[in-house]
Amino acid sequence: MANQARLKVIIVGAGIAGLTAGLMLREFSDITILETAYELKEVGAAVTLGPGAVGILRRFGVHLDKEGGVVATHTAVWTFKGKQVAFAPFNAIEKAGEVNVSVHRADLHSALLRSATSADGPGTPCKILLNHAVVKVDSDAGTVTVGNGTEFTADVIIGADGVRSNVRPFVVDGDTTAQPTGESGYRYLLRPEDLKAINHPLMKEDTIPPTINVVIGPQKKLVLYPCRGGQVFNCLAFVPDTELHETSSEKWQRKGDVNALLESYKDFDPMWTDILKLAKDVGLWQMRDLEPLPNWVKGRTIVIGDAAHPMLPHQAAGAMSAIEDAEALSAYLRKAKSDPASIHEALDHVFRVRHKRASSCQSRSRAAGLVASDNIGKQSPDELFALWIYPGAEKYEAEHPEMVIPK
Ligand SMILES: Cc1cc2nc3c(=O)[nH]c(=O)nc-3n(C[C@H](O)[C@H](O)[C@H](O)COP(=O)(O)OP(=O)(O)OC[C@H]3O[C@@H](n4cnc5c(N)ncnc54)[C@H](O)[C@@H]3O)c2cc1C
Repeated sequence: MANQARLKVIIVGAGIAGLTAGLMLREFSDITILETAYELKEVGAAVTLGPGAVGILRRFGVHLDKEGGVVATHTAVWTFKGKQVAFAPFNAIEKAGEVNVSVHRADLHSALLRSATSADGPGTPCKILLNHAVVKVDSDAGTVTVGNGTEFTADVIIGADGVRSNVRPFVVDGDTTAQPTGESGYRYLLRPEDLKAINHPLMKEDTIPPTINVVIGPQKKLVLYPCRGGQVFNCLAFVPDTELHETSSEKWQRKGDVNALLESYKDFDPMWTDILKLAKDVGLWQMRDLEPLPNWVKGRTIVIGDAAHPMLPHQAAGAMSAIEDAEALSAYLRKAKSDPASIHEALDHVFRVRHKRASSCQSRSRAAGLVASDNIGKQSPDELFALWIYPGAEKYEAEHPEMVIPK
């Protein structure tokens, strides 16, 4: 890096993809992150990250197991009648040299934010401008315009503005609106005391074991696991829209109704409905995804994360893929110069290495969902775990040439 000029980078969106890109590029770039929100407040539930994403973050100084993340050691599969049909260790360290971590999105977000903006990291801290919603992009010139008309210009524009990306239409031709997939998800959090109070069998003495529990029923699925050092129990309940007893919306903040949730799950054994009855503050969101895009890059501009490949949560691959994209940017952009051809080539390199893997995560996530109901619960824990192993872009490119789009 010694003699190379620093790149000027604009990142659109301070979510998981945007902040991860920020912390990974700050060593060799001067970065401004434009974020539409008035304040940075991550809502929602927890995410599970496999050893690939956890290892990438650790290389960049983010240790999720020290940020309230729970090292998930086992997976358990249950029937809706309450019978356990599988209980398997991940053996993550033996198989991948790194752990799986279940982490609350707010804890993940604040760890990424700290690394992206703290004074003592490598290079220059990222500057974040809140209340700056990007409305227009000139992908070739490297210019973005925010709502009040102010323009920002940079060597590289990174669209990390999520599933309803405003950058995407300026990069990819045609209608790229993510479409509802026919299922919705309830999410809520419990405390160990809540489960203890009803003497629930998932509690072992005073703790919730670090197991990812998947409960399979006809056209329904519950996913239950602890985060925040075992002090919070993350509950997700998926329902096909045909059996939903209220209306969902694509907005993350929408509240759900516990009685409607219970109505959808009325066939489930009391072992599970007892956990649903404990829900107080329930969120409900409509799931959307998109067919793989033909390209992610135009001129000096690239889309990453959910802006490039929105996907259903059924393989725990959305946040993982956002982190993998950011790492690929760091690998290939650090060798680029600021001229348009060099920047375009580096961004295209990211696309060529990342596209097939991200697209396969998208299609696997859809196939494991409720609408493709033949597949629910049929995947072995080992198959799922194999998807979470990823060595970083350059090694992946060398080890899996069949997954790289030729130049
Ligand atoms: C319930 C649920 C469970 C999940 N579980 C997992 C899991 O276990 N493992 C996993 O890997 N993934 C999981 N995911 C997926 C994961 O959370 C997403 O894939 C991930 O958050 C995508 O990050 P992102 O930064 O691309 O998008 P987002 O997190 O949506 O961030 C986009 C950011 O851009 C901002 N923005 C939007 N528009 C503009 C604009 N025009 N201008 C400026 N800023 C803008 C937004 O305010 C936001 O801050 C789950 C998702 C859900 C919904």
